[in-house]
Amino acid sequence: MASSRPHSSDAIKVAKVLMVGAGGIGCELLKTLALSGFRDIHIIDMDTIEVSNLNRQFLFRQSHVGQSKAKVARDAVLKFRPHINIKPYHANVKDPEFNVDFFKQFNVVLNGLDNLDARRHVNRLCLAADVPLVESGTTGFLGQVTVHVKGKTECYECQPKPAPKTYPVCTITSTPSKFVHCIVWAKDLLFAKLFGDKNQDNDLNVRSSDAASSSENVEDVFVRRNDEDIEQYGRKIFDHVFGYNIELALSNEETWKNRNRPKPIYSKDVLSDELAQPNGNIDKSCAFDDEFSVSAMASLGMKNPQDIWSLKENSRIFLEALRLFFTQRRKV
Ligand SMILES: [Zn+2]
Repeated sequence: MASSRPHSSDAIKVAKVLMVGAGGIGCELLKTLALSGFRDIHIIDMDTIEVSNLNRQFLFRQSHVGQSKAKVARDAVLKFRPHINIKPYHANVKDPEFNVDFFKQFNVVLNGLDNLDARRHVNRLCLAADVPLVESGTTGFLGQVTVHVKGKTECYECQPKPAPKTYPVCTITSTPSKFVHCIVWAKDLLFAKLFGDKNQDNDLNVRSSDAASSSENVEDVFVRRNDEDIEQYGRKIFDHVFGYNIELALSNEETWKNRNRPKPIYSKDVLSDELAQPNGNIDKSCAFDDEFSVSAMASLGMKNPQDIWSLKENSRIFLEALRLFFTQRRKV
C-alpha cells in the first residue's frame, strides 16, 4: 500500500535539527543524532570548554580548554561522520539573530541547557515558530526528558518549575550572572576552602592548579604561612580570588565574546596601607559585648544594615570577617 508519508529513515535523513547547548547533555545528544542518521544539525552554545567539563563532556579534551563548545563538538563528531552537515554557533540563544524565522527552518529543536531562563526563551520561540521541542535536564542522578508540541501537549512553561538549588560549577567559578551565583561561590567554595576539610576536593582548586600544574612545589595560597599575620594572609586570599583568578579568567578571550568582562581587584588598589593596619580604627568597646555574636560590620563601626557598601567597605568587611573567623573560632 502506497503512503504519502516518507519512510521514517528518510524523514531522519532530510530533517533539519537545532540543538541548543553542547555541554553534558549536548555531547551525548550530538553523538546519538549523528549515529542515528541525522545529517543536518545546527548547534548553539555560548560557552567555552573548562577543565571541569572534561569528566563527562566526552567530545572534549584537555587541549580544547578555552575553545568554543559548539565548534569543538562539531569537529569531534565530523571525525566519525565526515559527510554530514553540522553548523556551530558560538553565541547566546537569546541573541536577536535567533528569531522566530530562524527557528521556523527546523523540524525539531532539542534543548540541552543548564538554566531555566534560556529554556523558557527557547520554549517561547518554538511555540511561536510551531516547531516541536524536546526538553531535557538533569538533577543530581535523575534525568528528565519531555516532548512539547504546540496544540497537542502542554508547553515547557505550563507547569511551574521549582527554583534550582544547585548550579553548574563552571557558572559559579567562571561566569556568574546572578547574585545567587556569588553567594553559592562564597558559601560552598571559598568558605569551604578556608574553613572546611582541607582534604576535600574543591573547585576553587581548578584555577590555582591550572596555573601551577608545571610545578609540584607551588605554595598553596590558602595555607597560612607561619610568618604571615592575619592581615597579610587575608590580603593574599583577597588578591588571589578577586585579582589573580580574574586575570586568569580574562586571559581566555573566547569566554568574553558575549559577556561583560570582569575587572580584577587587588587589595592595595582599594585599601590604603594605613587602613590596612590591623584593627586600625575599630571601636573595641562595643564590638565584642557578646563574643558569640561577633559581626565584622559592628567590629568596623558600620551601624546601618541598610547602607549600600562601597568597594572599599566591602573589602574591609571581607578582611575583618576573615580576621574574626580565625581569631574568634578558637575561643568557642
Ligand atoms: Zn504552556
